Amino acid sequence: MVSYQRGMIEASSASSRGPLARSCGRPICQDRSACRRESSAECCAIPTPRKSCLRPPGGRGGVVASGNFTALPGTTTGTEPSRGMRRLDNLTPPRKLALTAIIDSDYLIVGAGGMGLAFADEIVTQTSASVTIVDRNHRPGGHWNDAYPFVRLHQASACYGVNSTPLGRHSIDPVGWNKGCYELASGSEVVAYFDQVMRQRFLPSGRVKYLPMSEYLGDGRVVSRGNGNEYEIRAQKIVDATYINVAVPSQRPPRFTLAAGVACAAPNSLPKLAPEYRHFVVIGSGKTGIDSCLFLLEHGVAPANITWVMPNDAWLFDRFTVNPGRHFTAIITAGRGEVLRAALAANSTDDFFR
Ligand SMILES: Cc1cc2nc3c(=O)[nH]c(=O)nc-3n(C[C@H](O)[C@H](O)[C@H](O)COP(=O)(O)OP(=O)(O)OC[C@H]3O[C@@H](n4cnc5c(N)ncnc54)[C@H](O)[C@@H]3O)c2cc1C
Repeated sequence: MVSYQRGMIEASSASSRGPLARSCGRPICQDRSACRRESSAECCAIPTPRKSCLRPPGGRGGVVASGNFTALPGTTTGTEPSRGMRRLDNLTPPRKLALTAIIDSDYLIVGAGGMGLAFADEIVTQTSASVTIVDRNHRPGGHWNDAYPFVRLHQASACYGVNSTPLGRHSIDPVGWNKGCYELASGSEVVAYFDQVMRQRFLPSGRVKYLPMSEYLGDGRVVSRGNGNEYEIRAQKIVDATYINVAVPSQRPPRFTLAAGVACAAPNSLPKLAPEYRHFVVIGSGKTGIDSCLFLLEHGVAPANITWVMPNDAWLFDRFTVNPGRHFTAIITAGRGEVLRAALAANSTDDFFR
C-alpha cells in the first residue's frame, strides 16, 4: 500500500481472500460522482485520480471508504479459505437457475490464470482429452489482469508461462535496472501472452472450450456473468486452479482502518495520482511494495518523502545469480556455492541468515 501525505496506496503483497468472492471488475473510478454511484468496495477502495475528488472542501487529502464485497449465495468473503479441491466441492448448492446447456468434458478447469492455463497446456499437448476452462474474468491471465501498470515479472520471461509456448524473445536487457539480465515481461505482455495461448493454441485444438465471464458455482454448475445463462459441466475431473487464491490490492479493500483525511489507493492508481502528492507511505514489503517504492524513486520522488512500512524483512536473491541459460552458468554456480559455504560456516539458522 502507498499512502500520500494524507492518503495511501495499498501495495501489500498478494494474499488470500474468501473463495469465490465476486469482484466487480470495474475500472478505477474516474470522478467522485461515479464513485458515489458505485456500490462495490473494489471501486470505493481506490481513490479517484482527480485532486478535487480526493480533497474535501478546505482540507488536504480525502477519505476513501471501504465497503463489503458482494458475494454469491453460499460463498464466503474476506476470510482465510480452506485450501484445495474441497473448497469447490463444499460450496452450498446455488439457487436454481435455468439450465441453458450441458457440456461434456474430460476436464473442467476452474480458473484461467497461470496455473489453470499451464495445466490445460499439458493436457492439450500430452493427451487427446477435452477441457473446459471457466473463469469469471473476460480474458485469460488471472490476477495479471488486475495488476498495477508498472508490474513486471521478477524472473526471466523464459522461465514463466506454459510449456508449449515461449514467453518473450530470450533477449538480454541492454539498459535499465535489469541491464545485463534476461528480459522481464511486463504485466501487459503477460496478459497478451496468455491471450495468445488461448486463441492460437487452445481454441484451434478443437478440444478446449473456454467460458470467460463465467462464475463457477460448484457442483459442475457455471453461470455466465454476461447473460445469466447457466451451464452444467459434466466432467471426469474438476481441477481447482483457484487454489492459490491470489488477491492483489486492486481486487479488495484495504485490510486496515483508514483515519479521516487519508487517501488510500492500490498501486494501480500511482501513475495518475503521484503527481498530485508530495509525500507517500508505502505499506507492504513484498514485490508490490518494492515496485511501488522503485516507481516513486524512478520518477524523482525524494527518498525522504517516502515512508515504507515493512511488516517483515525480505530476503532477496540477486537476480544476476539466478538468471537461466549457459551465459550465466558460471555466475549461478558461484552464487549457489556462496550460499552453501555460508550455510556450512553458520552456527545456527539465525547465524546463516545474518
Ligand atoms: C504482483 C505479482 C507478481 C508476480 N510475479 C511473479 C513472477 O515474476 N514469477 C512467478 O513465477 N510468479 C509471480 N507471481 C505469482 C503469480 O501469482 C503466479 O505466477 C500465477 O500468476 C498465479 O496464477 P494462478 O492461476 O494460481 O492464480 P490467478 O492468477 O489468481 O488465477 C485464478 C483465476 O481463477 C478465477 N476464479 C477464481 N474463482 C473463480 C470462480 N468461482 N469462478 C470462475 N473463476 C474463478 C479468477 O478469476 C482468476 O482468473 C506474481 C504475483 C503477483 C501478485
